[in-house]
Amino acid sequence: MTDIPQDHPRYESLLAREKVAAGVKMGITSIQGLIAQGRGESFDYLIGERSTESALNAERAAAAALLLAKNPVISVNGNVAALAPEKVVSLADITDAKIEVNLFHRTETRVHLIIEQLKANGASEVLGKNPDASLELSHARRLVESRGIYSADVVLVPLEDGDRCEKLVEMGKTVITIDLNPLSRTSRTATISIVDNLTRALENMTELAREMKKERKEELVKLITTYENKKALSGAISEIQEHLKTLSAEIEY
Ligand code: ATP
Ligand code: MG
Repeated sequence: MTDIPQDHPRYESLLAREKVAAGVKMGITSIQGLIAQGRGESFDYLIGERSTESALNAERAAAAALLLAKNPVISVNGNVAALAPEKVVSLADITDAKIEVNLFHRTETRVHLIIEQLKANGASEVLGKNPDASLELSHARRLVESRGIYSADVVLVPLEDGDRCEKLVEMGKTVITIDLNPLSRTSRTATISIVDNLTRALENMTELAREMKKERKEELVKLITTYENKKALSGAISEIQEHLKTLSAEIEY
């Protein structure tokens, strides 16, 4: 990886770019993953590279849903494995969630490498190598494990593909997504759409889950029942508008 000086004004963003590029070199991220990262970066610019109020609200509801779930599962793809393997493991630990590898550009080697990457970052068990169930999809993301994504009541699918998100919702699951694009099909079909950077969202959710574990169950249930995803999504779009208005006023001086 190129050495990025920590005082560089775009340090976080450049570091993330290096991590995804390293993921491609290591064989855990597909080359298409670079394009997904670029699209994410551009939305993050528009958002202002911060966790907005609507994102934090969604993250709170998501942490509650994971804590209350009977069989929560975190789905991991090549970008997630490159960008934040240790953060996935922390969130899984605090919420007692399983981790399952699920890939659009699936090869057995890539699945193996991602599992090894997660284990090197502290995961004890990672599902996805032996899919014994199938979602009604025509691509490789259909391949799932029956004790993982297939039977999960709550699934966290960061950087999701819109197709599978729709299927999982149709199956009656609570689907939590992390996607910087509030306009994507994924964001528009999920139960809880977190419009935030993967790295920030995983950190926030882990912290929130840690605090919320001390709360009474009814409080967590209330958080979920009062959460309105449409409001959160339109909030995310308004926050982009507001941010752009501020920037444009600054430039006008
Ligand atoms: P959809 O099928 O849902 O409309 P898409 O085809 O636009 O999605 P994909 O290329 O399938 O998008 O997935 C990449 C998505 O992940 C993009 O919407 C992008 O904004 C988002 N993304 C990429 N990197 C990050 C990141 N680091 N944090 C959060 N979101 C990200
Ligand atoms: Mg897509």
